[in-house]
Amino acid sequence: LAQLFLDRIAHSDLNAFLHVDPALTLKEAALADQRLASGDTTALTGIPIAHKDIFVTRDWRSTAGSKMLENYVSPFDATVVEQFKQAGMVHLGKLNCDEFAMGSSNENSYFGAVKNPWDKTAIPGGSSGGSAAAIAARLTPASTATDTGGSIRQPAALCGVTGIKPTYGSVSRFGMIAFASSLDQGGPIAKTAEDCGLLLNAMTGFDPRDSTSIERAKEDFTRDLNQPLQGLKIGLPREYFGDGLAADVEQAVRAALKEYEKLGATLVDISLPKTELSIPTYYVIAPAEASSNLSRFDGVRYGYRAKDYSDLSDMYRKTRAEGFGEEVKRRILVGAYVLSHGYYDAYYLQAQKIRRLIAQDFQQAFTQCDVIMGPVCPTVAWDLGDKADDPIANYLADIFTLSTSLAGLPGMSIPCGFGQGEKNSKRPVGLQIIGNYFAEAKLLNVAHQYQ
Ligand code: GLN
Repeated sequence: LAQLFLDRIAHSDLNAFLHVDPALTLKEAALADQRLASGDTTALTGIPIAHKDIFVTRDWRSTAGSKMLENYVSPFDATVVEQFKQAGMVHLGKLNCDEFAMGSSNENSYFGAVKNPWDKTAIPGGSSGGSAAAIAARLTPASTATDTGGSIRQPAALCGVTGIKPTYGSVSRFGMIAFASSLDQGGPIAKTAEDCGLLLNAMTGFDPRDSTSIERAKEDFTRDLNQPLQGLKIGLPREYFGDGLAADVEQAVRAALKEYEKLGATLVDISLPKTELSIPTYYVIAPAEASSNLSRFDGVRYGYRAKDYSDLSDMYRKTRAEGFGEEVKRRILVGAYVLSHGYYDAYYLQAQKIRRLIAQDFQQAFTQCDVIMGPVCPTVAWDLGDKADDPIANYLADIFTLSTSLAGLPGMSIPCGFGQGEKNSKRPVGLQIIGNYFAEAKLLNVAHQYQ
């Protein structure tokens, strides 16, 4: 199985994989074979997996898509990587992503953009573009990703695969290179909700090395997959179906909703009135946390160091000027600004207050429905290069995913048909399913019944 996927990877031109090491993979596969023979197995033993290059690994470089970490090898494995190793999964390598997970198109990777397998002139989405494209192109049956403001759901949607961001605190952040710590959450991308459930079973759990990890009993996320949906109330936020939603995306989403009605669900009109504020709120809080997290990349402790410098300050300055890409620098500047004396109250504190109101919107909505549905992204995948020089256009495309992240809620994306690209190519559309805290098993059930 590992050899099959290694061969496919070798013949792929998507730029989804950053590091592969066939000898290492085959060694792990041989170990998995031994486990299978001895009966010491889990549902995942022997199944190949690949990780977003934001999870640190002892055996592979961990670049976070940045020049800053181009040759960085971690002395330890991220908890998530450890968990999959314990389950007996076989590692195929590391997957391309936007630099430090900042982006919506994968075009911010120092190692170049990933191509969308459905149409190689289109973006795969971001920041976990490699994770989603690799699943869509069947280069791996399972991948990990991270979602800070949509980076699991949006690339899954644009590549026509399934991804779930669990409740904040469910998956350990230990060894996940930090972007915005109060938002970052790991999760799986795979072909189906069932596969995602099996992967979540292995990746969740309390980790004393992550201060925001939640202590909860282990659960089987696949337990409710076959429950019927009769009587399910699906909330449709007015704000997710208004101006700015492309007609082809709306059509595919509404067709999926019709299927849910046939399965016995009822549709309820709801409102998430603060949706519009999620963009300015997120793009204050995330850069603020990023500016703090990224201060560790100083040319001393990790990775890249500039060659010619006159003194320590000059070394810091040149290392960061040369090691970080444009979008990362933009976020550090914005973050430092909103946290600075005199602006903190006006921007950062204000954003934190709105964040609370956004979370309250959802709690109000969940008094009227069991799950919330809508589009993941206002459009299908756009053309590579189209918005590459326009950060605001990229930020605006996050409108339907940011609120869930700000509230810490679980959300997923499942494929629900196709829209049209500019050259009339078929490009996938994703249906977003949002649940209340710890409703992952319900989300997977709702997804599975449709799939
Ligand atoms: N597109 C968002 C950003 O650029 C979300 C990224 C993410 O979830 N990692 O910040």
